[in-house]
Amino acid sequence: MASNKKIYLDYAATTPIAEEAIALMLKYLGINGIFANSASLQHDFGEQAYEAIEQARSEIANLLNAKANQLIFTSGATESNNLAIKGIAFSQQKRGKHIVTSATEHKSVLDTCNYLETVGFKVSYVRPNAEGMIDLAAVLNALTDETILVSLMHVNNETGVMQNIETLAQTLQEREIFFHVDAAQSVGKLPIDLNQTPIDLLSLSAHKFYGPKGIGCLYIRNRKKTLLTPLLHGGGQEYGLRSGTLPTHQIVGMAKAFKIAHERMPTDTAHCHHLQQLLMQQLQQIDGVQFNGDLQNKLPNILNVSFKHVTSDSLMLALKHEIALASGSACNSGAIEASHVLRAMGIEGDRLYGAVRISFGRYTTEAEIIRAGERIVEEVTRLRQLALE
Ligand code: PMP
Repeated sequence: MASNKKIYLDYAATTPIAEEAIALMLKYLGINGIFANSASLQHDFGEQAYEAIEQARSEIANLLNAKANQLIFTSGATESNNLAIKGIAFSQQKRGKHIVTSATEHKSVLDTCNYLETVGFKVSYVRPNAEGMIDLAAVLNALTDETILVSLMHVNNETGVMQNIETLAQTLQEREIFFHVDAAQSVGKLPIDLNQTPIDLLSLSAHKFYGPKGIGCLYIRNRKKTLLTPLLHGGGQEYGLRSGTLPTHQIVGMAKAFKIAHERMPTDTAHCHHLQQLLMQQLQQIDGVQFNGDLQNKLPNILNVSFKHVTSDSLMLALKHEIALASGSACNSGAIEASHVLRAMGIEGDRLYGAVRISFGRYTTEAEIIRAGERIVEEVTRLRQLALE
């Protein structure tokens, strides 16, 4: 069934907000709602906002099997990653000035690490294998007596590849090295039990799981031990770790979206598996199609694919007004450069410059995937012919 409706296949960049979360957020905005400053505890208005925030905090903590006082609110995973990494670096530099991360992290981790290198820290960037997996032995080999922090993402935003953070967490705990996990792409899609897994710091972002943009959390296992130097100084909110008036509407929206994502996890995952299979079948009709990332070890909502002799730019341009796709990382798509993630996996040439990320989710329909698959096959064929002429 052909449809003129545009198809959104960029869920890994951001998701729409779940309708239930939107409905709830509206109650925290206007004069008849709970709009007051949650720090204004001298009046009922402020107290109501405070209670709403603390209830949301507890709900989010429960879903992670954490305690409410282990979570602080931030503006999203970029800020959480910055606070975790710079916060540990600056507070622990007397113990050592070495950090270990991977070459396939999100820019908010890599650029933070690059910045720390300019102020005297040393960073080791562990390389993945050709499928995007980080070998735990390689992480352990990179550790020195100076290492204070390991930062590793749970699920990669370009390939969907999952890392085994559980085993690493145990080992790092024994070595007394802080462990930070960027879980922006996994929270709400994979169960995470922070009581079982000794992760010290974990970043999450609501807009990846059908919550609002501009809100996220940093989980801090032990605020007494994990002394973080704050990035923002001011009113002293969030234990002085993140000053600024809390956005009540965003916070309740995040908690609601997380609850729904958690409840729907099996359904949403099965749906994405089905869509991924459909799409792969269609794309496999094309000669020279290559899937990037470990297909056995990835989330089903992200499919990274290259088509021989077709650049991602030309394919995306051809489909720009019909289908939302991403090349490289959407977060740097202002400047078109080849993906640092695929490059680190040793992918080069056509396969690198032809890589397209197709990501879908709860609201993507089978019909949309079939239509998108057809259009991609048509355009890849057309672009190849054009190149031959
Ligand atoms: N880390 C990962 C793995 C991500 O996918 C993203 C979003 N692209 C971020 C961090 C940044 O999150 P935010 O947009 O909430 O700052």
